[in-house]
Amino acid sequence: MGFVVALDGPAGSGKGTITREVAKKMNLINIDTGAMYRCVTLLMIRQNIKLEDKEKIKEILDKIDIKFGIENGEQKVYLNGEDVSLLIRTKEVNEFVSPVSTLKIVRERLADMQREMSKAIDVIMEGRDIGTNVFPNANVKIYLDATPEERAKRRFKQNEEIGIQIPYEEILESVKNRDYIDSHREISPLKQAEDAIYIDSTNMSIDEVVEEIVNIIKKKR
Ligand code: C5P
Repeated sequence: MGFVVALDGPAGSGKGTITREVAKKMNLINIDTGAMYRCVTLLMIRQNIKLEDKEKIKEILDKIDIKFGIENGEQKVYLNGEDVSLLIRTKEVNEFVSPVSTLKIVRERLADMQREMSKAIDVIMEGRDIGTNVFPNANVKIYLDATPEERAKRRFKQNEEIGIQIPYEEILESVKNRDYIDSHREISPLKQAEDAIYIDSTNMSIDEVVEEIVNIIKKKR
């Protein structure tokens, strides 16, 4: 295992942006595990696979190929060779991803893939269960938080930038709903690892959070 920074936190806490910036500054490969759960969800929606249909879910997991890349400075996600970077951010996927993420078969397969991806490289991995389940021995663990209102505001802005139009109230509702499902599920729920450093980013700028995390990593590396 290379050097691992585990960054967990709820939807919209800024993990994506922060991870990309910290990765650049510290020469780490960033892995967005939420995008992986979104890929499985997209396949299930496309093939009309229900949550109860474990056989079909197993079939897609056996064949699934998820890759990350960068094109013109933008992070891209490829699912079985197709660029799905935008397709995994729709309202439909948002609504279905948390229920899909409660499934044991999905969690086990994706956690294995995440461990495999980090075998020979230094990574910063963002998600919900990285410090608690995927890498309980991560070199650095951060739990990034913010109020639901602030997180919904950030998601709204992000969506606007990529041309997705969802009303603020709807985003807030969806953020709270996902928080609830993610933190109450039976298998590896969203929670702060005992040895994780807690950062509340509600009143912090991106640069401030990045600086704080970079300093934490520098001390450990
Ligand atoms: O990070 P993002 O909001 O894209 O994640 C989408 C969903 O994927 C989360 O709401 C959660 O249900 C699931 N997820 C998870 N475990 C992870 C990463 C994401 O359950 N490590």
